[in-house]
Amino acid sequence: MTTHTEALPVVVIGAGPAGLAAASHLVERDIAPLVLEAGPAAGSAVREWGHVRLFSTWSELVDPAAEKLLAPTGWTAPDGSTYPSGADWAEKYLQPLADVLGDKVRYGAQVTGVSRLGRDRIVDADREQQPFTISILNADGTEQRITARAVIDASGTWSTPSPIGGDGLPALGEKAAAARISYRIPDLKDPAVRARYAGKRTAVIGSGASAFTALAYLASLAEETPGTHAVWILRRGISGSTFGGGTADQLPARGALGLAAKAAVDNGRADAVTGFRTTAVERDGDRLVLVAEDGRRLDPVDEVIVLTGLRPDLSFLSELRLGLDERLQAPTELAPLIDPNQHSCGTVYPHGVNELSHPEKGVYLVGMKSYGRAPTFLAMTGYEQVRSIAAALAGDQEAAERVELTLPETGVCGGAGLFDDPTAAQDNAGGGCCAAPTTLQIGVGAPAQSGGC
Ligand SMILES: Cc1cc2nc3c(=O)[nH]c(=O)nc-3n(C[C@H](O)[C@H](O)[C@H](O)COP(=O)(O)OP(=O)(O)OC[C@H]3O[C@@H](n4cnc5c(N)ncnc54)[C@H](O)[C@@H]3O)c2cc1C
Repeated sequence: MTTHTEALPVVVIGAGPAGLAAASHLVERDIAPLVLEAGPAAGSAVREWGHVRLFSTWSELVDPAAEKLLAPTGWTAPDGSTYPSGADWAEKYLQPLADVLGDKVRYGAQVTGVSRLGRDRIVDADREQQPFTISILNADGTEQRITARAVIDASGTWSTPSPIGGDGLPALGEKAAAARISYRIPDLKDPAVRARYAGKRTAVIGSGASAFTALAYLASLAEETPGTHAVWILRRGISGSTFGGGTADQLPARGALGLAAKAAVDNGRADAVTGFRTTAVERDGDRLVLVAEDGRRLDPVDEVIVLTGLRPDLSFLSELRLGLDERLQAPTELAPLIDPNQHSCGTVYPHGVNELSHPEKGVYLVGMKSYGRAPTFLAMTGYEQVRSIAAALAGDQEAAERVELTLPETGVCGGAGLFDDPTAAQDNAGGGCCAAPTTLQIGVGAPAQSGGC
């Protein structure tokens, strides 16, 4: 890379928790970041699920470099033992952090393409000497190009939810039935959303933390509004691990989500339908009928909530030479560590620049997006990722390869793991792993010494 290129900023895509943490670590390293955020504020994606309470405490949600940057402003961290909502996370931490970063964060700037300046994907000549070129669509409709020495893509996966179809494609009729289908956990405090589900029969598809949350919300609505009922659709069968780690989960609030879903089934607020791989959504008057690959047809429902996971949007990275796992769409080196088909717990160790590098040098996928379709991402993992990458960009290889992280592990290890049924991998939108927090200080590439798993 030329000196000229090194004078350019590191572009960070997305002002979510991972992107803002990346910017904080870069500032700490005297490297100029430029954060490009499509939405109007910091944490635009988090704000969209602002009504959901996180299962992590504040102590697990604030990046150390960000905290240092915030400290001189008089900012004090919220009580580390309490659980924020998404809205709290955005308003009490992400926005103040973005405000400190000031003009290093640009809103209404949607990245629509990333390439090497003057070099499309197939051109080798002097490729690594060229800066990156980033194509931006501004909120006012104008287009712009900027150049960067490196690109950290922290754009998350929130805007690309997986569809209903058991084969990963939209089910037949899914698009036509869009008015009756939601891909979000309902905000029942919103009167319009409440009215949509009150007294109605709603299918909830998925088996991760998001589906658990939706089932718990609908069960509480059923207590107030007779006739409210949920039909919980799982692509796999129910086993000991279906409801997550329960009381053994070291993130107790995450364990509680599974228990709330179990209670909804046990007390008759929700019927569980297992092994149901939806292939079609048919109309029955105003209602919808879900049809499975095996020919089963469910009784009609009024609404469908789809929580079958999130996917990375790789479309704007198509001119880059990424090394991605063919199944998870996560960086090749990272994928084996997080593959829900292989691992039930304790096997995801803290990782950094080595696991997150691509054939195209200087580009990194971090945060939620780095996990591709794997459902177990935690914010603290992302903070460690960007610390390591910023160190590498600063030429501090020793710090880049040293990993320090307190990583919760699962209490559902031994016997059937959370994802032992391979079909679970695709409909689990946020299960995960967790045991007593273990402070790790290990080299990148070394497996964590996880107790009890
Ligand atoms: C309901 C829910 C609950 C969760 N609870 C927890 C929890 O308790 N604990 C935990 O550790 N993790 C939790 N997570 C997982 C994860 O920590 C969060 O999703 C977190 O927000 C991921 O941060 P991120 O910065 O990677 O992505 P995001 O928060 O999704 O941020 C990405 C940002 O990029 C922007 N963007 C997207 N595309 C573009 C583009 N093309 N150009 C410019 N900007 C773009 C978006 O507007 C957004 O602001 C939860 C996730 C969900 C969905």
